Amino acid sequence: MRTIIEPFRIKTVEPLRMTTHEERERILKDAHYNPFKIPARDVLIDLLTDSGTGAMSSLQWAAMMRGDESYAGADSFYEFESVVQDLTGFEHILPTHQGRAAERILFELVGGDGKVVPNNNHFDTTRANIEHSGARAVDLVIEEGRHPEIRHPFKGNMDIEALEALIDEVGVANVPIVMVTITDNSDGGQPVSLENLRAVRAVCDRHGIPLFLDACRFAENAWFIKMREDGQAERTVKEIVRDTFALADGATISAKKDGLVNIGGILLLRDEALAERADALLILTEGYVTYGGLAGRDLEAMAQGLREVVDEDYLSYRIRSTAYLGEKLMEIGYPIVEPPGGHAIYIDAGRTCDHIPPEQFPGQALVCALYMEAGIRGVEIGSVMFGGGEEPPALELVRLAIPRRVYTQSHIDYVIEASAAVFERRHELPGLRMTNAPPVLRHFTARFDVIPRVAEAAG
Ligand SMILES: *Cc1c(COP(=O)(O)O)cnc(C)c1O
Repeated sequence: MRTIIEPFRIKTVEPLRMTTHEERERILKDAHYNPFKIPARDVLIDLLTDSGTGAMSSLQWAAMMRGDESYAGADSFYEFESVVQDLTGFEHILPTHQGRAAERILFELVGGDGKVVPNNNHFDTTRANIEHSGARAVDLVIEEGRHPEIRHPFKGNMDIEALEALIDEVGVANVPIVMVTITDNSDGGQPVSLENLRAVRAVCDRHGIPLFLDACRFAENAWFIKMREDGQAERTVKEIVRDTFALADGATISAKKDGLVNIGGILLLRDEALAERADALLILTEGYVTYGGLAGRDLEAMAQGLREVVDEDYLSYRIRSTAYLGEKLMEIGYPIVEPPGGHAIYIDAGRTCDHIPPEQFPGQALVCALYMEAGIRGVEIGSVMFGGGEEPPALELVRLAIPRRVYTQSHIDYVIEASAAVFERRHELPGLRMTNAPPVLRHFTARFDVIPRVAEAAG
């Protein structure tokens, strides 16, 4: 088989700034060993997130000039609405500025004290919005999804028995909706099968509970279904996307992922009465119903992005390039969450740096080492992000997220080479001490120091 190439050529370039080892040493120290505090200009390859960091196409940029900035009833809204309707089949389409704005509106309507919302794995903003409403968020991914080293084609699937048991335990009246996240971001970008979605739907139907999707990566999920699920190989991604949305009563979407834009979100609803109440909340905090906190040009870019994301050459390249990074890291010896997911590779830093205990943040140590080595920025998903409670999180991970259509294969090869150099001296990496721990969402602003004795040993 031939190399799967980037199915685009470059029309505009953005120069990258090279830094020296000495500069990076100072930059990292000034950032208190927290990559969120490193100015982006000092980062060479930025794998912090795939959210809103993608490159737009020439057609998206052209569409932005068409943006109709009328306050109400702009052409750009109708264009956006017709594209989303065609792709998803939903009647009520509310634009929002990000995914979390859609979540905030949804859970103000269906959440509240005593309510319980099951999901395969709640993304952090989803969980935060559910808890903010007074409700409880429960993760019910299948057992395989809880073990990084176990391979399963649809590791994001919901545990159907656990879902039934939860509904029995808390009572139907307390479960306002069931949610499924596609792909399962918090579990390594793992897909959910159509078969599993149908089984969740059947449970929901039996109990009369609406099913909602957190559908940020609906196109990547559909590609995995086409590649891995029986009977789906000959179908188009667009057909699979339509089938997926047809199973749901609503969805929240961050368009900063598969919308291929830098800002935007969508709330999708079928129920007329619920949509009317959502419209009222949208107007209260986001904006009028035909722009929802976005400019007309943003709606145009989203409409065009949603057309492009179901292109199968794009998806083939996208998923292959993520797998390529994962396979090469495994060849080097890195334990990763297997198999590689859609949008990111998750390195098991706890196992990579098994000399660093969780309270010295092995994930953060590895993130710092990758930056020091070559100016690569990843993010810790472990004791920095989720620690501070009674129990340390189950895994100490480092996520390398791949922005869409931004980096070429040689950029990724460079990441692989730098990762190999870091792997060689993984047992010399120093642990860190948190010198300032903010009470909430501490990973964004926490400060660290290198633990001195080990720092000297590492030179
Ligand atoms: C990014 C993301 C969100 C939140 O979207 P924002 O646009 O960042 O507000 C919700 N769920 C999942 C699975 C996501 O990846």
